[in-house]
Amino acid sequence: SHTCDLPDGRAIAIVHVAVPGGGWLGTHEDVTEQRRAEQRIAHMAGHDALTGLPNRARMQERVDAALAGRAADEAVSVLCLDLDGFKDVNDTYGHAVGDELLRQVGLRLKEAVGVTALVGRLGGDEFAVMRCAPSHPAGIAALAERIVRLLRVPFEVQGHEVGIGTSIGIATTETGEVTTAELQRRADVALYQVKASGRNGWRFFDPAMDADLQRRRQLGADLRSALTEGQLDLHYQPIVAADGALRAFEALLRWRHPREGFVSPGEFIPIAEATGQIRRLGAWALARACADAAAWPPDLKVAVNLSPVQFVGDALVEEVAQALAASGLPAERLELEITESVLLQDDAATLAILHRLRALGVSTAMDDFGTGYSSLSYLRRFPFDKIKIDQSFVRNLGHEAGSSEIVRAAVGLGKTFGMIVLAEGVETEEQAAILREAGCDELQGYLFGRPCPVAELRGSGPAGPGRAAA
Ligand code: C2E
Ligand code: CA
Ligand code: CA
Repeated sequence: SHTCDLPDGRAIAIVHVAVPGGGWLGTHEDVTEQRRAEQRIAHMAGHDALTGLPNRARMQERVDAALAGRAADEAVSVLCLDLDGFKDVNDTYGHAVGDELLRQVGLRLKEAVGVTALVGRLGGDEFAVMRCAPSHPAGIAALAERIVRLLRVPFEVQGHEVGIGTSIGIATTETGEVTTAELQRRADVALYQVKASGRNGWRFFDPAMDADLQRRRQLGADLRSALTEGQLDLHYQPIVAADGALRAFEALLRWRHPREGFVSPGEFIPIAEATGQIRRLGAWALARACADAAAWPPDLKVAVNLSPVQFVGDALVEEVAQALAASGLPAERLELEITESVLLQDDAATLAILHRLRALGVSTAMDDFGTGYSSLSYLRRFPFDKIKIDQSFVRNLGHEAGSSEIVRAAVGLGKTFGMIVLAEGVETEEQAAILREAGCDELQGYLFGRPCPVAELRGSGPAGPGRAAA
């Protein structure tokens, strides 16, 4: 039998059956519907239903084919994309908006790459672009840049304006022969690096990334037992008033790794956040800091850092209340330090949590003030008790013209909103003098004391830091 395609689009199957006694019986059957169904199934197997883009399996086939069939001067490049902030959109506006956003992202990606490359959806909020073209690394970089820029323009989805970002990892045969699987792996590794370093950008794979990734994975695994093995500790750094009187201590996590030695919180906190361990660590730090502080003189406060991740869901308020109750520390002696990135996520829910925390009687400080874009607008929406001017401005005091202006502006702002203004990272007398002169209320930095174990705090004894020695 064979099928005959008619000019009007119908498909007719013609079957000839030999009839006993000689001769043929021919049957014609209209198989148009069946044929369409088969094509749909074939399409579905290779395409993503939501966006209509080639799916992971089809992209792999296309990369395979490109690697096998390319000309000698052509390079195959794979760009792996991951949307930044997509989960928040889904959580905030619901899946219908999330789905529509993904469709629009697909369209914008096609627009960004034009006919020069193939766009696919790998699943979730992951997309890929494959390009097979005459060798031209700068062209790939330009393509990645164009995509990042285009996707940064807010989307209009079902009446909401939603903003997301994109991280892109790039792998290419420009640097040598590789398999499809290796291209994909390298693009993933490069993507991971972009995400780890603040997102919203692109990077080419670099062999050094493998070692780095290896270390992060290992640290993430080791972190799981760090708490139970007693490898984590809190160190305390003094915070003083402008006249030098001791006001508080900031609790800072320390990890003594059995093989790596001391690992900086700057390195392991992001890993703890990415591997879902920060809640456990954060709850522990809160409980521990409150317990330590309960033994100090009653006019000394303790400041504890919170990760934005701890604001997702509603466990935090209960954890804080629990830490206070268990230690007997009065709420007004606990201060929570929060970076503005906390407020970048779901606004309404975060503000509600901040208000509930405040209702417990604890105070709040905006950490790393001046480093984000939106500090100012957030200060209008939530009444922080304190702002901590980021150490980068303090470091440049006296050297970089803009720094003292920022300090002055922050102090002015603090006065307007009735907030305490603290400057952190104070290392020299010169910096301290400028800050006092500008009107800073509180200072913190190596000049006044480095973070140290609770047992070594000034005037420490069984009762903790004492006034006499301060
Ligand atoms: P941060 O909250 O901005 O903490 C200030 C950092 O500056 C600390 O680094 C502190 O040791 C350092 N520092 C203080 N004074 C000076 C100075 O005069 N000069 C210089 N160069 N540095 C100074 P550390 O302890 O390495 O902590 C780094 C970051 O890790 C913290 O930044 C905070 O974001 C995070 N972190 C630490 N402990 C915790 C925690 O318990 N929970 C959370 N979520 N994050 C934490
Ligand atoms: Ca802090
Ligand atoms: Ca800070």
